[in-house]
Amino acid sequence: MSVPDWVPVREELRDEEPYGAPQIDVPVRLNTNENPYGPSEAAADDIAASVRAAALGLNRYPDREAWSLRTALAAYLTAEVPAADLDASRVWAANGSNEVMQQILQAFGGPGRTALSFAPTYSMYPEYARNTHTRWVAGQRREDFGIDAAAAVALIEAERPDVVFLTSPNNPTGTALDPAHTRAVLEAAPGLVVVDEAYAEFRREGTPSALELLEEFPRLVVTRTMSKAFALAGGRLGYLAAHADVVDALRIVRLPYHLSSVTQATAEAALRHTDELLAQVDALRATRDATAARLREHRFTVADSDANFILFGPFDDRHATWQALVDRGVLIRETGPLGWLRVSIGTPSEMDAFFTALKEVTS
Ligand code: PMP
Repeated sequence: MSVPDWVPVREELRDEEPYGAPQIDVPVRLNTNENPYGPSEAAADDIAASVRAAALGLNRYPDREAWSLRTALAAYLTAEVPAADLDASRVWAANGSNEVMQQILQAFGGPGRTALSFAPTYSMYPEYARNTHTRWVAGQRREDFGIDAAAAVALIEAERPDVVFLTSPNNPTGTALDPAHTRAVLEAAPGLVVVDEAYAEFRREGTPSALELLEEFPRLVVTRTMSKAFALAGGRLGYLAAHADVVDALRIVRLPYHLSSVTQATAEAALRHTDELLAQVDALRATRDATAARLREHRFTVADSDANFILFGPFDDRHATWQALVDRGVLIRETGPLGWLRVSIGTPSEMDAFFTALKEVTS
């Protein structure tokens, strides 16, 4: 696709494609790392009642600062990591962590500024950089998809990035960062370090969150989302924890009333059901570990995963495998380094369907 010549779009966008995984209507969808378990009836009822109450006030703009929601998010994070000791002034929320990260580059990136990350990683970062006219630099992860701390520090010292994105657990590899490597980057980086923890709730026992480092490093930002563990991808709610002064700087670039009353009511209601929504996370972690073991039994190479998806391979022609799975009603993701495919963790019966199709396709 190319934007027609008569459309006066920015030249560097003319040949770009809109981002997006294929949305194909097949019975087993394991391609966008969604939670296969929807919210419970009780959570759905609470969301519906809260949205109804919000609807009666829709003639008014929402709370621009989303203060009540940010208070609830701060309490959730502090319950998980008491050392973080957060309050609403240190939490920010927007329409998905996608918007949170775009706001970060609007405020901290921009013309003449640089953002840096380590590939393979989340494919949206370079797009936020492009959209905000921020120079983009990509270092490389090691073969095991971890970060080479010495090489990372050398790159940071050479490039002096204004924003570094670290992703832990990383998408599409599932790799959680070694805390010593996160620390090395934080000590070397002259600007903001964003640790994207979209999949943090799925991490394995003993893997720490970067939230523990917030007190020590005032230029650390930890982003989270309700799209994955909270089964709220359709609700569009992402958030971050940071120093209150960093949050205040972000408030300068946010659109007025960016977070609708309906979104705020939905997210707050979901947070009231945290225990029951997160109960599914344990089941998903168990299914993930069982899936990894099963893929290894089938002689695939499998990247260790702390997330709700698994990268596996190698495939000589991954597109052909991906297509053959789609033809059998199973949609996974053609992403990551060449020769690998990524499967999101579904219910046990969805994983059975995936394995049945995979066996047909690869035998
Ligand atoms: N960060 C990572 C690493 C992701 O994989 C995703 C979504 N796939 C996001 C951020 C954005 O998620 P959302 O906008 O739904 O919060």
